[in-house]
Amino acid sequence: MDSSRRLVILGSTGSIGTSALEVVDHLAPRFEVVGLVAGRRVELLAQQVTRYRPRIVACGDEDGARRLRALLDGGPVRPRVVWGERGAIEAVREGEPDVVLAAIVGAAGLAPTLAAVETGATVGLANKEALVVAGRLMVERAAASGATLLPVDSEHNAIHQCLRSGRREEVRRLVLTASGGPFRGRAREELAGVSVAEALDHPTWSMGDKITIDSATLMNKGLEVIEAHFLFAADVGEIDVLVHPQSIVHSLVEFRDGSVIAQLGVPDMRHPIQYALTWPDRVAGCCPRLDLAELGTLTFEQPDLEAFPCLALAYEALRLGGDAPARLNAANEVAVEAFLDGRIGFLDIPRVIERTLARTGPGRGEDLDALRDADRQARRVARSLVSGGPTA
Ligand code: NAD
Ligand code: MG
Repeated sequence: MDSSRRLVILGSTGSIGTSALEVVDHLAPRFEVVGLVAGRRVELLAQQVTRYRPRIVACGDEDGARRLRALLDGGPVRPRVVWGERGAIEAVREGEPDVVLAAIVGAAGLAPTLAAVETGATVGLANKEALVVAGRLMVERAAASGATLLPVDSEHNAIHQCLRSGRREEVRRLVLTASGGPFRGRAREELAGVSVAEALDHPTWSMGDKITIDSATLMNKGLEVIEAHFLFAADVGEIDVLVHPQSIVHSLVEFRDGSVIAQLGVPDMRHPIQYALTWPDRVAGCCPRLDLAELGTLTFEQPDLEAFPCLALAYEALRLGGDAPARLNAANEVAVEAFLDGRIGFLDIPRVIERTLARTGPGRGEDLDALRDADRQARRVARSLVSGGPTA
């Protein structure tokens, strides 16, 4: 048997993180969990520590670290407990991982994900916002360290698989599929009063709250267009979006001879997570198998950019380039949090983003400090727009 590979999970208590640990169980004993990083769910993190025995654990803040130490006190497992962004970076480095699963939500995951890339490890990338904010840096640093970036986002994971059937220069376009979210088919004016609970009721995927709201606004697809641009060195004009409500075709690649290669599977994130963990091999999976005869029908339609302007805003930010995707992402994070807290309405989300983009200029460039400045500036502007209250 091969010796086990060392794994660090960033965001271990989240939807992706907990699915990843199920995949680790399924693949046992191939992976040794050497580091865990999580934000707030300290009780769950303590259970994970007891079970997987990492050397080092990072909590979101000092209070979390204190609570985690107390929960582990007297028990058999005593890892080093650190906290904050620096702690997360330490957890990545100290674990000396072969593989890092980057699954923190939001730009908060940027620094630890970059640190993972700099170790030269294989990085399974779920944290799309990190790539949206600093895609060029991420790709450059991966090239410098020899890190392999493997997309965990199901669409990009699908494209990664489809690209194995041709050469890069033979590709005509990448087609990202989108479920359309819970409000597919509704006109813009019908979206004004939708509730948080309705927006969180995703028809096909079970995910964390932030990405579920992004799926309802189609900003998730917008972030994924930007993600595809960086991951696959594709121009904005080469990336299309197709709504596919059943979420069975995870994405497609059209080659220049007209052949279209698609990747299909049940909508279960354990599948792309396992692909990233075992690549370039394929081993028996733990998801139910796809039964197309039972499904019967797969349908496709164009996205409605009028009802869901977030997708158009993301294309626009990608066309603008520079730090515009970072500003778009920051404004979206602020707006989604405000929507989840009931401080703004659903249609205020694109309004806050559009106005933030208009009111923040291109910043000082694209090094990490400049991008973080652009992120902070956009958050300030978006917060002031949000504190104006609902405009819907
Ligand atoms: P989630 O909210 O369920 O989990 C987020 C994780 O990040 C948690 O463990 C949380 O504790 C941790 N975290 C948050 N802020 C932190 C901080 N400052 N420091 C340390 N840890 C922090 O989110 P999720 O749905 O698992 O999504 C994670 C990422 O994966 C997102 O970027 C999302 O877009 C992407 N993604 C998720 C899915 C999915 O099915 N859930 C699919 C594709 C991509
Ligand atoms: Mg996706």
